[in-house]
Formats: sequence, C-alpha cells, structure tokens
Amino acid sequence: MILPQYDNQCGWYELLNNVSCFSPLEDNAQFNTVVIGGGFVGNAAARRLAENMPDESFLLIDALKIGQGASGRNSGFVIDQPHKRDLELGSKEQKEKIIRLNRAAIDYFETQIDKYSIDCQWSKGGKYQAAVGARGEKHLNHYEQLLQQGNETYHRLSSAEMQNVFGTDYYNAAIFTPGGMLMQPAALMRGLADTMPDNVTVVEQTPIIEIKRINDGFELTAHNGVKVSCKQIILATNIFTPELGYMRNRILPVMTFASMTRPLTDAEMVVYGGQTDWGITPADHAGTTVRMTQDRRLIIRNSYRYAHDYNTPSQLLPKMHKRHWEGFVVRYPHLTEVKFEYTWGGASGLSSNFETFFGEVEDGVYASCCDQSVGAARGTISGMMLADMVAGKKSALLQDMIEVSGNPSWLPPKVFLRIGVPLRMQMARFASRSEL
Ligand SMILES: Cc1cc2nc3c(=O)[nH]c(=O)nc-3n(C[C@H](O)[C@H](O)[C@H](O)COP(=O)(O)OP(=O)(O)OC[C@H]3O[C@@H](n4cnc5c(N)ncnc54)[C@H](O)[C@@H]3O)c2cc1C
Repeated sequence: MILPQYDNQCGWYELLNNVSCFSPLEDNAQFNTVVIGGGFVGNAAARRLAENMPDESFLLIDALKIGQGASGRNSGFVIDQPHKRDLELGSKEQKEKIIRLNRAAIDYFETQIDKYSIDCQWSKGGKYQAAVGARGEKHLNHYEQLLQQGNETYHRLSSAEMQNVFGTDYYNAAIFTPGGMLMQPAALMRGLADTMPDNVTVVEQTPIIEIKRINDGFELTAHNGVKVSCKQIILATNIFTPELGYMRNRILPVMTFASMTRPLTDAEMVVYGGQTDWGITPADHAGTTVRMTQDRRLIIRNSYRYAHDYNTPSQLLPKMHKRHWEGFVVRYPHLTEVKFEYTWGGASGLSSNFETFFGEVEDGVYASCCDQSVGAARGTISGMMLADMVAGKKSALLQDMIEVSGNPSWLPPKVFLRIGVPLRMQMARFASRSEL
C-alpha cells in the first residue's frame, strides 16, 4: 500500500510559524462519520458535517500534517472561472453551475477566514491568464471568446499594464478576470484545521490502512494498530483513494512542480518594477504558472509527470529547479541575484474523460476525487456537499454538484500508462515550447 509522504521541501509549509499539534487517535473511539484526508475536500466536509449535525461526533484524520498534502502545496489560486478546457466543454448551463459552485466555495472560505482571522495572505487578487508566442495568443483569444459567450467580466491588458503588474515584458498578451482569490495554501489549511468545531476530532500523521465493514458501519485501522468505528466514511484522499480499495483504475495521478524565491529586498523591488500579490496561469495549459506573493516571493510552476508512485521523487527536484530557473531568468533577467529557496512537487488527480467523481461509491462510503487540479474551489464545495448528502440535506447547490460530476472512465493498466502518459506530456511540452 502506498501512503502519503512529506519531503520537507514545500515552501508554503516550511514557511509556517508555530504549527499546532493535535492529540493522537484513541483506540476504540466511535464516530458518526470519519473523514479520511485533510485537504480541501476533507476540511470542508468535516466542518460542514459538524454544523449539520451538532450533536454527533466526527473524526478528520490525515496521514500527514494537514497542509503537507496537495492542498497545502498548490499555487494558491481559488478560481471562480473554470479553466479553458471546462469552458470549452459542456453546455452553457453546465458552465454556469460550475461557476456558481466555485463562487459558493469562495464565499465559504471568506466566511471562515473572516470569522477566525485566518492569516493566509487571502486576497481578491483575481487571475491573469497570459500568453507567450503565437500559440499562446491563439489559446488566449479563444479563452476571451468563451468569456464573452458567458457574459463574464474581464479586462485585456495593454503592454504597459502587463509591464506594470508583472515587472516583465515576456508576455504577448494577458486577460484579467476579477472573481478568483489568492492565498497561501498551507497557512489556509492549517487555519481551517485549527478552527474546527468542537465536535470534530482532528488527528494527524496517522494513515488509515484498512477499512472493514462491520454490522452497523465500519471499522478503520490506522498504521499504528489503533482501531475506530463509524457509521459512514468520507474518502477525501483524492489520488490515494485506490490504495484504500475504491475508484481503482479511474484516477490518473499527475505531478507538477514549483519553485519559490526568497523575498525580494526593497532595492530589488525597484529593479523588478512590478506589483505584489498577483498570479498568472498560462493561456497554453502546458505553459508556466507564475505568482508574486504578498511577501514579495516569486513562484514558478510548470512541468508534469505521471505520478505512478504518488509521492515526489527527490532525485527529480534538481532537474525541476533548473527548469524553473530558466523560466525565471527569461522573465526576470534583471533579478538573477534572487535565488530559489524551495523546489517541490505535488500530485493531484485527473481522469481521462475530464470527469470529476462526487457521491456515494458504496453504501455508506462517500468520495470526491479527480478534480482535474482545481481542487481549491471544486474540492471545497464537493466536501461541503458530501457532508450535506451524508446528513440527508437537499439543496440547489447539491443538485448542481451532482449534475456537473460524472464517472471518470477506466484507465489502461499502469504498465501502459507509464509509457503512454509521459509520451503525451512530452508532446504537449514540445507543442508549447515557446513558453519557458
Ligand atoms: C503544484 C500544484 C499547484 C496547484 N495549483 C492549484 C491552484 O492554484 N488552485 C487549485 O484549485 N488547485 C491547484 N492544484 C490542485 C489542488 O492542489 C488539488 O486539486 C487539491 O489539493 C485536491 O484536494 P483534495 O482534498 O481532493 O486532495 P489532497 O489535497 O490530495 O488531500 C488528500 C489528503 O488525504 C491524505 N491521505 C491519503 N491517504 C490517506 C490515508 N490512507 N489515511 C489518511 N490520510 C490519507 C493525504 O495525506 C492528503 O492530505 C495544484 C496542485 C499542485 C500539486
């Protein structure tokens, strides 16, 4: 069984101060529902379960410290607009539902961050989508058409505006959409875990290794032999879900990599000439994501790998560091004194037919996975809606969630994926080679 591992490399997590500790799991404890996995899905599900059923008790359990998994190591965009592929597929109604769901997740985050004063660089930073080269521009123009069709608000930047925000003239064109949020993901995940309602027990660094059906529910065994029982389970384990026996051969684990600089000094900020607190996603999806944080760190994210082993192989990081550095230098040749402090990888789940799974996998076992790497918003609202499903609560949002989700199609055996997926990724990388 492959379990999550932490590599001590993720900049977001490593920069946290005063990470809290929760008590160990008590043997033979009983819960109404156990939520396995403390990422976006699990955190949102546990809080909503507690709110839905204040007289019941719940367990939120993670194999790692909360914030060390994919939900704490992403690029920190909480998007309202779907990425271009989702905008391209599906009917107008389908897109409107996805946007409504994403915006409900943003509202949820805002409420919690405000209520508990969670310090996580949360901002209404929106999202820039930027193009490099003719191919990038073609993708961006198409994206603009899709935004127009959906009557969505956006702004196309002039060259001077791009230079003024990004501090570089590397991009040919860019579009700003105002609805998305930016955040420090590991700080957000810790803040949410630390403020769980009293009827949620949070346990960390305790992988579940076995799920057994018993008369009136389930018995779960942790790696240290401790057992707990519950009536229902929410699997918020994304790519690790097949390791627990569910969604086998349906989730394609894909890893991507990021590097983060040290903070720019006052003098370097002048040389840089751009603003703080923005994020670019690439118009051509195989391109590069760039962020400038509130604390003046630049982040470069690109490159994909088929993550058959789920965790980050440390030997790949020097190669990724080099690749990110090339992407950094081409954008910021005037800032080569500013070195990367961290380079890390993280994996999330795709499906071969772009479908996201949401719902009951088996009697009493609920799951949300394959969020196509936009889990901050989509995973969060999925977790909330799973909790409503468990509580028997009906709503228009739950109905929307069911309607925009589907069945990830079967994947070929791993041995074929290990050949086919890297080949496809190399082809995509070659096609978008004009962007470093
Ligand atoms: C570098 C990078 C950049 C990204 N950028 C963005 C972005 O900007 N915006 C966005 O929306 N998405 C982004 N994503 C994708 C996003 O991070 C994922 O979609 C999201 O984290 C999935 O959330 P989740 O809760 O489903 O799963 P996860 O965050 O993977 O959580 C699953 C949890 O389950 C735990 N677990 C697994 N097995 C067990 C077990 N047996 N017992 C107990 N616990 C277990 C794991 O430790 C983990 O914490 C990015 C991903 C990466 C890697």
